[in-house]
Amino acid sequence: MGVSRLKIIDLSQPIFTGMTVWPGHLKTYIFPYTTHEETKRRYKLSFETRGIILCDHGTTHVDAPLHLDPNGKSVDQLPLELFYREAVCIDARHVPPGEAITVKDIEEYCRKTGLEIREGDIVLFCIGHYDRHTNAKLEYVLEPFQGINAETARWLAEKGVVGVGFDGPAADCSKNIARGEFPADEVLKEKKILCFENLCNLDKLVGKRFRFIAFPLKLVGATASPIRPVAILE
Ligand SMILES: [Zn+2]
Repeated sequence: MGVSRLKIIDLSQPIFTGMTVWPGHLKTYIFPYTTHEETKRRYKLSFETRGIILCDHGTTHVDAPLHLDPNGKSVDQLPLELFYREAVCIDARHVPPGEAITVKDIEEYCRKTGLEIREGDIVLFCIGHYDRHTNAKLEYVLEPFQGINAETARWLAEKGVVGVGFDGPAADCSKNIARGEFPADEVLKEKKILCFENLCNLDKLVGKRFRFIAFPLKLVGATASPIRPVAILE
């Protein structure tokens, strides 16, 4: 395939000092460490480096089983094949923010679009949360967002799905989380299904099947990793 026909959709939110993080998570700082000013005095070639402080769930990331399960694998222990997969994207923007996306919602969408969920797929849900709140409020993650419920998570597991993803901060909908309940996370944990969080640009992928690539960093013992996820359209 010629490079000119290759289209890569960037599914990553930007990482910067002061970006929104989930309440209670480590805040993000990117700061100068060695500067050109300092190094030019010591070397013929000057150089600069930055320090980065980032939560392992900081911004666009994948959760490892260890996040929810004390006996689960950390992110460096996961096979890379899980991060180079076929994926489909379901448009769930009609589901009211705060509510759960049901099996009926997905079945109706698949019937309407001809989209098929296959064994080994990653299923992305376009909920529009990031687009609704980009630059609007620092604490936008607290605004209502859609997620899936336990029944939907179980149905996806039965189809052999290996991962789910959202352009929002969690698999569970905000109404359930506000009650202190994480029914979707419980099923994802039990079925060892990965969760990709804080994606963006999913509106460009609704109704499509595509190659999804989202390798994590090899962070030893980490409960998640920042990723640079992309969709390849040919
Ligand atoms: Zn996470």
